[in-house]
Amino acid sequence: MKRFNHIDATSLEQAAELLREHGGNSHVIAGGSDLLGGLKDNLWMEYPEAVINLKTIPGLKDIKEEEDGLHIGAMVTLTEVSESEVVKGAWSGLAEAARRTASPLLRNIGTISGNICQENRCWYYRYPDKIGGRIDCVRKGGKRCLAVPGDHRYHSIFGAVNKCIAVNPSDTAPALIALNATIKTTKRDIPADEFFTAEMGAQSTVLEHDEIVREILVPRPAAGNGNAFRKIAFRKSIDFALVNCAASVTLKDGVVESARICLNGVHNNPRRCKDSEEALIGSPLTREAAEKAGEIAVADAKPLILNMFKVNMAKTIVADTLMDCAG
Ligand SMILES: Cc1cc2nc3c(=O)[nH]c(=O)nc-3n(C[C@H](O)[C@H](O)[C@H](O)COP(=O)(O)OP(=O)(O)OC[C@H]3O[C@@H](n4cnc5c(N)ncnc54)[C@H](O)[C@@H]3O)c2cc1C
Ligand code: SF4
Repeated sequence: MKRFNHIDATSLEQAAELLREHGGNSHVIAGGSDLLGGLKDNLWMEYPEAVINLKTIPGLKDIKEEEDGLHIGAMVTLTEVSESEVVKGAWSGLAEAARRTASPLLRNIGTISGNICQENRCWYYRYPDKIGGRIDCVRKGGKRCLAVPGDHRYHSIFGAVNKCIAVNPSDTAPALIALNATIKTTKRDIPADEFFTAEMGAQSTVLEHDEIVREILVPRPAAGNGNAFRKIAFRKSIDFALVNCAASVTLKDGVVESARICLNGVHNNPRRCKDSEEALIGSPLTREAAEKAGEIAVADAKPLILNMFKVNMAKTIVADTLMDCAG
C-alpha cells in the first residue's frame, strides 16, 4: 500500500469539503473492509492522496424507530443492524441480510453505508497489479471485458452494462430496495431503487464525488406485511452471494395487496422483479404463485456458458423468499 493522508473528519460538511478539495484523489472511509482492499490492490486509476475518516463524525451511529419508520445512521455496523431487536421486528428481511453478510469480524467493522457503496468483486477487476501487471478492463478505463471470454461463472445472467458483466455484491442492497428505503445523503434523498448504477465508470452508485450517505430511512411496513431475505453462497460465512433475494409482501384479506422483490448477484445493479410482483397482486400467496413469480423473474435471463446454473438458483430463491414472507 502506498502512503496517503488519513484525515479524521469532525462533520459531514467538513468531510464533503475535503472531498472537493482533493478531487478524484480522495475517498471517504467507514469500516475500511472494502476500501483498504482497493487501496492495497491499486484499484483506482489515480492512487488516492487523501482518505477521509467518517467514523470520527458524531451522530451517525444510531438506529431509531420514528413515526416515518426506521432511521439507520451511516456508521451503524452490520452487526448492529443484524442484532437490533427493532430491526428484527418489522424489518426482519433487513436484519437477516445484514446477518448473512461476510463474517462476524467483518460485520463488526463493516457499516451499512459501506455495504451499499462497495465496489464490485469481479476477479479481473480486483486482480492485484503487483502480480503480473495491471489488468485494465472496461471498468478500469480499458477497451475490453476479460470476463466475457474468460471465467464468468459468478457474473451477470442478465447481460452487460457498458460491456461490463460484473454483479453488484451487496447483501443489504436488495433488502433496502424490497423495503422501499430512501438513502439520505448530504445533498438529497435517493430511493434505494435509484441508488445503484453501473453506468458511471467504475462506481457502483449514483453518488457524486463530494456526496456522502448520512442515513437510511426504511418505512414501516403496512399491517399484514411479511419480509424476508435469502442468500445462496458456497460457504456459510465470508462468502459473497452467488444469488441473493429480498422480498416484502403485504396481504389483505388473504390476497397479495402489494409486493416488492429484488434479486442481487445476478446483474450489474440489484434487479427489481417488477413483472413477478405484478403477477402476484390479487392472488393468495401460495407455493404455486411463488414458483410462477420465480419463473417470471428469470424469463429474460441471458446467462453465459459458465453461469447457467445461476438461472435456476435465481428462480428458486425468488419462490422460497416469497414463501418466507408468507410465514
Ligand atoms: C472477505 C470479505 C468478505 C465479504 N463478504 C461480503 C458478503 O458476503 N456480502 C456483502 O454484502 N459484502 C461482503 N463484503 C464486503 C463488506 O461487507 C462490505 O465491504 C462492508 O459492508 C463495507 O463496509 P465498510 O464500512 O467497511 O466500507 P468501506 O470499506 O469503508 O467503504 C466501502 C466504499 O463505500 C464508500 N463509503 C463508505 N461509507 C460511505 C458513506 N457514508 N457515503 C458515501 N460513500 C461511503 C467508501 O468510500 C468505499 O468506496 C466482504 C468483504 C470482505 C473483505
Ligand atoms: S466484468 Fe466488468 S469488472 Fe470484470 S473484467 Fe469485465 S469489465 Fe472488468
